[in-house]
Amino acid sequence: MNERWRYVAASAGLVADDGRVRPTIFAEMSALAARTGAANLGQGFPDEDGPEWIRELAVESIRGGRNQYPPGRGDAALRAAIAEHERVRYGLDFDPEREVLVAAGATEALTSAVLALAGPGDEVLTLEPFYDSHAAAIAMAGAAHTTVPLVPGAEGFRLDVDALSAAVSPRTRVILINTPHNPTGTVLSREELAAIAAAAARVDAVVVTDEVYEHLTFDGAEHHPIATLPGMRERTVTISSAGKTFSLTGWKIGWACGPEQLIEAMLAIKQFLTYSGGAPFQPAIARALSEGGSDIEALRRSLDHRRELLLDGLQRAGFTVMRPSGTYFICADASPFLSETVPDGDAFARRLPEQAGVACVPVSAFCRAGSPTAEALKNWVRFTFVKDEATLLTAIERLLARR
Ligand code: PMP
Ligand code: GLN
Repeated sequence: MNERWRYVAASAGLVADDGRVRPTIFAEMSALAARTGAANLGQGFPDEDGPEWIRELAVESIRGGRNQYPPGRGDAALRAAIAEHERVRYGLDFDPEREVLVAAGATEALTSAVLALAGPGDEVLTLEPFYDSHAAAIAMAGAAHTTVPLVPGAEGFRLDVDALSAAVSPRTRVILINTPHNPTGTVLSREELAAIAAAAARVDAVVVTDEVYEHLTFDGAEHHPIATLPGMRERTVTISSAGKTFSLTGWKIGWACGPEQLIEAMLAIKQFLTYSGGAPFQPAIARALSEGGSDIEALRRSLDHRRELLLDGLQRAGFTVMRPSGTYFICADASPFLSETVPDGDAFARRLPEQAGVACVPVSAFCRAGSPTAEALKNWVRFTFVKDEATLLTAIERLLARR
């Protein structure tokens, strides 16, 4: 049997000692939390569903007969709403007929982009830590995965710009970035984005940018799509999704915007992954994107409050925390709690549910096994604050009790 599947699983660190494929770290920690009754601050999904009026629209779509395949590129009203959102919010103009593609979540859009644009002999450069599906998509494409670190310091996790210049090569076909960034909570600055843009232009690489947390920023941090930088619209695929913006992660409605040639390349792949999906959800998300501004702002404010709550609680419990400017996540250094028997963040995260009744995720799961970044961040863990206040308070109480 061909072993490509094993190589893909290994790229995300998911081959167990016995050779079987392990579930993702998110699924594993959620299962452990369920088994031990722990407060689940591991897997990043909201425990409150998105706005009722949006859910009602999907129900109406099902009753109203929107139950067969939608068009391969996506529902026309949704593509129009996505293009309008990009124009109003960022001043980016995309033709909804040719430059917008709806996908089964950001995940399918990301995988389609990487499969369409890179193959054996090519390099795809990502940030490190990176979201797990980025590594898996690169492995599926048979391309080589290179990385540039985000380094913790006084200003949060910041891009190592010198390492970026060294990491791009003439074989770099795609630079795959993510801002606001999971797991660090970094919102890349204009200067960092300009460095990435310059590197991409230098080796004529395409930038694929994962912006699923585009609306979830705090402390006045501003999200800049890299496509808005001079010269970048023509070499960038911008990917987002409704999952995080409207707390509807199970609907799996995502999209990509970019120049026609790149969207066409993605379509060639995407139409043989799912072809299309989510028929009743697409018109509901079209309306949500055009009329849901106040819901997005309410979510952002509520998350901001929960972020402060968890930051304060983790600090009181003895963690050194990094204040995130975006996303659902706080990274914390667990060094004060490590010992000979619990030597790193991975061991800490695996023990914590049973020991303290709280689940988190080790940051090493977002790194390549044995890489310098994995080594540098081996004591770090990620907690999510996209849980209701009662769950956060329970988690904090439990962490304080074990001091
Ligand atoms: N990218 C990042 C950085 C994410 O955190 C997630 C999901 N949590 C995704 C992509 C996947 O998005 P979707 O559910 O729309 O496929
Ligand atoms: N993106 C979510 C996280 O980072 C998890 C999504 C998943 O389970 N694949 O926690």
